[in-house]
Amino acid sequence: MLSCRHATGLASLALERPLTFRERLALRGHLLICSSCRRAQRQFRIMRELMRSAPDAAPSPQAAAGAMPEDVRERLSDTGRGADEDRG
Ligand SMILES: [Zn+2]
Repeated sequence: MLSCRHATGLASLALERPLTFRERLALRGHLLICSSCRRAQRQFRIMRELMRSAPDAAPSPQAAAGAMPEDVRERLSDTGRGADEDRG
């Protein structure tokens, strides 16, 4: 099972390149059980649409992460430590 950090990492990576089958599968599996990451991914998708419509003002993936809802960011920082059962 992916951690939330890993899942949102994949979601932002998807902005830069197509994900591999395994990556997509892992991300989908996580999104099925994690509403916070579903919301974060929707934000990423919106960002991507904005980038397409305004290529001159393309924000970086880091900027996209900064645009995440605050509760998602808090959750991500929480899961960064001590979430051994989430790893892998
Ligand atoms: Zn998650």
